[in-house]
Amino acid sequence: MNILLTGGAGYIGSHVAAPLVSAGHHVVCFDNLSNSDPSVMERLEAITGQPVPLVTGDIRNGDALREVMLGHAIEAVIHFAGLKAVGESVAEPMKYYDNNVRGTLSLLEAMADCGAKTLVFSSSATVYGQPQYLPLDENHPTSATNPYGRTKLMIEEMLADVAAADPEWRIAILRYFNPVGAHDSGLIGENPNGVPNNLMPFIGRVAAGRLKELSVFGNDYDTPDGTGVRDYIHVVDLADGHVAALDAIAKTNQPLSIWNLGTGTGYSVLDMVKAFERVNGVPIPFRIAPRRDGDVASCFASPERAARELGWTAERDLDAMCSSSWRFEHMLATRNAD
Ligand code: NAD
Ligand code: UDP
Repeated sequence: MNILLTGGAGYIGSHVAAPLVSAGHHVVCFDNLSNSDPSVMERLEAITGQPVPLVTGDIRNGDALREVMLGHAIEAVIHFAGLKAVGESVAEPMKYYDNNVRGTLSLLEAMADCGAKTLVFSSSATVYGQPQYLPLDENHPTSATNPYGRTKLMIEEMLADVAAADPEWRIAILRYFNPVGAHDSGLIGENPNGVPNNLMPFIGRVAAGRLKELSVFGNDYDTPDGTGVRDYIHVVDLADGHVAALDAIAKTNQPLSIWNLGTGTGYSVLDMVKAFERVNGVPIPFRIAPRRDGDVASCFASPERAARELGWTAERDLDAMCSSSWRFEHMLATRNAD
């Protein structure tokens, strides 16, 4: 298939590009580089053995999208492009509604115009809001606690309306839990601009000596050790989930499908710190800090629907998540030293 990856130069998009190219698909990345570096394309080429085209552009520009879609005879889109920092979304909500919601509307219009009605969308477990029960299955009620989450929810609702209005669409909504880790090669991984908001890239930078210590946000939650529990999923497993979802929607007669992508296992912040120290032999200095606004105590998936309907389950363990993150930090440190 000819597949467009919006946000394909980013963390998850670049990891999804690799198995798609290896499976023989023609992949084109479309990215405005607002949170990524074009050098990722060279590293992707080193992994796949072939160049992966990058078109620099913004999804809010419908003409640019139509040009690339018609130029490459695009049949399916995997839509990663979006802003994802919760705190920033609280401070600058319009930026998030514009980029994420308007950007997705612009993409849907371009897809409809070009007759490409197969879409995989990057949603998030954030749409479950405060968990009412665990593990979270796809029938759990949805809600949002911040503008970022609300953009994901609005987009999900928009996609449901589009699928209901035109049964030719094949749309997969993938609700990611906590993607971490890096490609086995250590060549691509998560390298956010500025100070990381998320736990794993923060731990990686503390390990590398680029940040002094980790702040553990709260140790008085109702969890085994008092720190927050999350469902961390290796980004390479997550990437394989996309390939499985794309295969599934190519065969189904259902216009809309929703799948959780998680492992079903929760680890605490301190579990993550200890695992990283043990696996990589590096100390992670930390201090206990106040709870972070909006955080929930525990959040983990029921991955059963994806297992049943996609034949996909996450295979890589916590050790693989920690070792690959560290390998990627090393690659960055070596590159920066050059
Ligand atoms: P990322 O920031 O690394 O990648 C997103 C990419 O989209 C970046 O390369 C950025 O430059 C690009 N982009 C942003 N706005 C754009 C626009 N208007 N036009 C074109 N390109 C644009 O983030 P990621 O971690 O790879 O996340 C990918 C998707 O998955 C996002 O939609 C995010 O909300 C979602 N998601 C991520 C996580 C996570 O923990 N990483 C969890 C749940 C959901
Ligand atoms: N966390 C932390 N310190 C940090 C970043 C995160 O203690 O510097 C905790 C956070 O409170 C949560 C877990 O790590 O319990 C995962 O947070 P992250 O931001 O990575 O993902 P979230 O599940 O919030 O999207």
